[in-house]
Amino acid sequence: MRCTSFNSVLLRQFLLLLSLFCLPGTLVYAAEESKPITGAEAKPKEFEDSENLLKQKRDGVESPAKQKAKPATSAAASAKAAAAQREKDDLEADALADKIAKKMAELHKENELKKAQIPLRRPEPKPVYRAPVPAGMPHGSNLAGDTPSAAHDVHWSYEGEGGPQRWGKIDPANAKCDIGERQSPIDIRGGIRVDLEPVQFDYKPVRFNVIDNGHTIQVNLGAGNFITILGRRYELAQFHFHKPSEERINGRNYDMVAHMVHKDVDGKIVVVAVLIEQGKPNSLIQTVWNNMPLEKNDTVQPSGTLDMNQILPTNRQYFTYMGSLTTPPCTEGVLWVVIKEPIEVSQDQISIFSRMYPMNARPTQNTSGRLIKESN
Ligand SMILES: [Zn+2]
Repeated sequence: MRCTSFNSVLLRQFLLLLSLFCLPGTLVYAAEESKPITGAEAKPKEFEDSENLLKQKRDGVESPAKQKAKPATSAAASAKAAAAQREKDDLEADALADKIAKKMAELHKENELKKAQIPLRRPEPKPVYRAPVPAGMPHGSNLAGDTPSAAHDVHWSYEGEGGPQRWGKIDPANAKCDIGERQSPIDIRGGIRVDLEPVQFDYKPVRFNVIDNGHTIQVNLGAGNFITILGRRYELAQFHFHKPSEERINGRNYDMVAHMVHKDVDGKIVVVAVLIEQGKPNSLIQTVWNNMPLEKNDTVQPSGTLDMNQILPTNRQYFTYMGSLTTPPCTEGVLWVVIKEPIEVSQDQISIFSRMYPMNARPTQNTSGRLIKESN
């Protein structure tokens, strides 16, 4: 009987202590079971000992040493001994409660200290958007790791320290920009006039998104737009703009150019360049401008589709030559198709692009005797 009332007092104390000190993330024990129900931390040894002692008290089990020490005397002596034992038990219980309280206070303190040491959530670097289009289309894009990296402090640009003359120096991966002999863009002149097979355009309306990648405005396109040239089929992945046009025709450049980047299953790249000059507004360009991101490296994903037929001029005669990407890493082996007839966009439409990118054209490169073909 005594044990029951003693245990209930002790348990209440224990539960009170638990409620005071058990915080989220620390141990929570079920009073009846003495088993952890949450928390993965190990119980401190000292705490476990105290808990076992408490359990022994509750179950009325005494240690063998204590049982041995129990005196076998008369009833009066027994009553006296029992009273003494009760007093001793009470003292022990108090000591035990103190011990538990101290241990729990320590745990609480440790926990607070741990919490204080956890740094504030660090701002995560802005994720680079990975468009739902074929990967590995670096021309004018930052889809394929073309982002500033800690490895080189100066990032490429169109002027100053990171300007075109230094592209090959600011990153060894851009060596071709310096030493390549089939670089783009070029001043197209002296081409040979031949019967070039028309490029077959199989374009249809597809979903798109618009990204400001820090070098240009780029439109990533969903699957389904193809061209066929020289018997090979290439899929259009993205297109982007330069101002003024990077390519020159007999020394003349245009207000802007759109580079449409296609790739085949082997990774070969064909860029179709559509020259742009001031004139009537173009509805496709307007759709793109309507969806321009507000900030660099942001992407806008409109709900509609884009029909790339609207960016093609009626006459699709072209110049063709072998060149390179016009942005780092200036990879060569790119087949260029420069459509002779420009399309028109309005002055306002040019101005809108110019607000963000007044000049993003690489200077023309040495042709080094490359053959240029031209539709008759
Ligand atoms: Zn380009």
